[in-house]
Amino acid sequence: MKSKGLKLLLIIVAILIINACGIIQDEAEDPVENENEPQTDEVVEENEVEEPEPTEETAPPEPEPDPEPVVKEISVAAIGDMLIHNSVYEDAQIANGSYDFVPMLEQVEPYLSNSTITIANQETMIGGVELGLSSYPTFNSPVEVGNALRDVGVDVVTLANNHTLDRGEEVIQRAIEHWETIDMMYTGSYKDEQDRQQIRVMETDEGIDVSFLGYTYGTNGIPVPEGKDYLVNLIDKDIMKADIERAKEMSDVIILNLHFGNEYERMPNEQQKDLVQFAADLGVDVVIGHHPHVLQPVDWVEGKDGNKTFVAYSLGNFLSAQDEFYRRIGGVVGFTIEQTIDGDQEEIVIKEPTFLPTFVQFNLNTWSGYKVIPMYELTESQLSNASGHYEEIKTHMSQWVPDLEFIENK
Ligand SMILES: [Zn+2]
Repeated sequence: MKSKGLKLLLIIVAILIINACGIIQDEAEDPVENENEPQTDEVVEENEVEEPEPTEETAPPEPEPDPEPVVKEISVAAIGDMLIHNSVYEDAQIANGSYDFVPMLEQVEPYLSNSTITIANQETMIGGVELGLSSYPTFNSPVEVGNALRDVGVDVVTLANNHTLDRGEEVIQRAIEHWETIDMMYTGSYKDEQDRQQIRVMETDEGIDVSFLGYTYGTNGIPVPEGKDYLVNLIDKDIMKADIERAKEMSDVIILNLHFGNEYERMPNEQQKDLVQFAADLGVDVVIGHHPHVLQPVDWVEGKDGNKTFVAYSLGNFLSAQDEFYRRIGGVVGFTIEQTIDGDQEEIVIKEPTFLPTFVQFNLNTWSGYKVIPMYELTESQLSNASGHYEEIKTHMSQWVPDLEFIENK
């Protein structure tokens, strides 16, 4: 193999030398062809030809700069509402009086920790026990909810929703303090105007920079404190457009989180579709929706420039004590971001959308034993007609994206 390779190399070098000589000959002939040109120019031309000669004989002639396109990929996973009712945090209490939510999430941990970036909608603010925990309708949750999300692989939390202002500014400030303590990126609710102005961008090791924006339709009638709009991002097309334009300059990919739609409706309404179209027209790459507390399908929406935006209209409840059947079903949506750099051209493609339907298992008599379980792993004793329900959810989620892949292994 080696001697053959050497022979081949010698032949290539010989061809290159012959070619190189050919070029020199051709160029050397030029002055003859341009008989009318002044003498001085000929001298300059000859000098230009002579000088590179030694290098051309030892090295192959420089090919036209045509580098291979560079293709990079990262994966993203996102979950819906973390809605921590009192029975959930009471169930999470451990011997020393603190809370541990990791056991509730451990069965879905593999699907959250494997992706480059994982996003969660933290619907209830984690103001902690010092400010008094509370449940529906004005929530305040233990800080340990945040720790559990971090421990199972979540990297970004979205905080703009109808419960953001439930317990006022103090709870928000305390919650943000904790998110900062555990180094969790948050978006949609901010500690001050300066914080609000800072677009959240995650710079991945692969070199793809992803920005995260989040807005909510409202705050359950609780007015935003005067002069403190930064406490919660409200859906406002002018503000969103300005933020999206800034995010575009700062990142390669924009993931927009929208808290919208009608509660308990399994299909998106016209307002949701209109907002997603608005985002697609502005070049947003992905829209993640929450609030209906039930799953709504995924779709591809074409923007005005022919770009394609991937949308999950609603990811349902991921962990809550809501007991109605469809409100116990949520999921992990996934997709791949592919970036191709070809010279100074950069292209982003969102591809290979996936979904893992999940179910909140708990004892309906004791309101305890909360566990988030992948639906494909549910047994008949955990849920009667488990496989029938699973098939129905798959059909529901993929009705507009028939090639949506369902994750059925770890
Ligand atoms: Zn909500």
